[in-house]
Amino acid sequence: MFEHLKEQPADKILALMEAYKGDPRDDKIDLGVGVYKNPEGITPVMRAVKAAEKRIWEEQETKAYTGLAGDPAYADAMISLVLDGAVPRSAVSAVATPGGTGAVRQAFELIRMANPGARVFVSDPTWPNHLTILKYLGIETVAYRYFDSKTGGVDFDGMMEDLKGLKPGDVVLLHGCCHNPTGANLTGPEWDAVIATLNEAGAMPMIDIAYQGFGDGLDVDALATREVASACPETLIAASCSKNFGIYRERTGLLMAISQDSSKQKVAQGNLAYLNRQNYSFPPDHGARLVTLVLNDDKLRADWQSELEDVRLNMLSLREQLASEMQRLTKSDRYGFIAQHRGMFSRLGLSTEIVEALRKDHGIYMVGDSRINIAGLNKETVPVLAKAIVEAGG
Ligand code: PMP
Repeated sequence: MFEHLKEQPADKILALMEAYKGDPRDDKIDLGVGVYKNPEGITPVMRAVKAAEKRIWEEQETKAYTGLAGDPAYADAMISLVLDGAVPRSAVSAVATPGGTGAVRQAFELIRMANPGARVFVSDPTWPNHLTILKYLGIETVAYRYFDSKTGGVDFDGMMEDLKGLKPGDVVLLHGCCHNPTGANLTGPEWDAVIATLNEAGAMPMIDIAYQGFGDGLDVDALATREVASACPETLIAASCSKNFGIYRERTGLLMAISQDSSKQKVAQGNLAYLNRQNYSFPPDHGARLVTLVLNDDKLRADWQSELEDVRLNMLSLREQLASEMQRLTKSDRYGFIAQHRGMFSRLGLSTEIVEALRKDHGIYMVGDSRINIAGLNKETVPVLAKAIVEAGG
């Protein structure tokens, strides 16, 4: 039977990781895969997570199944972190999922179950997994303009023009903050305009929020998500704990389905649990338990927030350093957008030839579309990258 299987295309980012590993140069720089690295190049276990892990080891007395939706205490803690009371708890259905990817996948499946003809509008560009999962599920996608490579900002006019094509029952996928791969984000008034357009068209927002706390802070990063959830009749939210809790491999996410009409909550909750049952039955618990312990314990939570803030400020200062180094070398503000972008990524707008030259001649690895992981840099390597970009003709 297996002879009928076709070779699957390699994941570009994972292939880049392999190429980086095989590069013998000592001074190589990895700006590819999206994990946070501290200035020493390490992705640490956060202090509060380590303390919570110790507590689980000491106090946990059973590893029997939880529930199909995961531990309700985890859902409560995460709903409060993301939504902070923007909608009543009774309006929210939620299930724990394996990572943010699991939440994205279940959200798409729920959309397909509720409206088999729904089209999902996605930003151009978006996180490649959005596109491959939608394709795998046979859901029609429509790209909307998003990134203006001339300014490094959002092509808001283009986006609004493309959203004019929305029909009732369509879904618009939006990144809650820290857009991946561009780093460019909507302003408050732009979010307002998007919400008005969605509501006029009878389209539903789906928010993917994977970097809360990596941009402007835990609350500011969730503002748009909260506004959408309170202003639209229905909203789907896929949240990931991989980045802000540093628990990538624990696979910890939450899918929320919000309806202003709380009589729909029970059936939505039942459908989410049903989807978990069909796909993997009980969701992973260890990461969810860590998150719950950290969020519900004042001391652990304060320590987590302070460490997360250090992470955020480190990335912000690297952004500022890189933007000013580029300004010094190019004697222009061409790369000023790097300091405006938020989150772990920036799309630099370099040609594939330059990206290739950076890899070949300088051992600097970035994704082919010139997305860099800011956290792959440190104070010493920022000037190295800036000089290499200019030498390569960027
Ligand atoms: N959405 C976006 C936009 C992401 O960048 C990521 C992580 N790369 C995720 C969701 C999900 O991550 P995970 O499944 O590791 O939680």
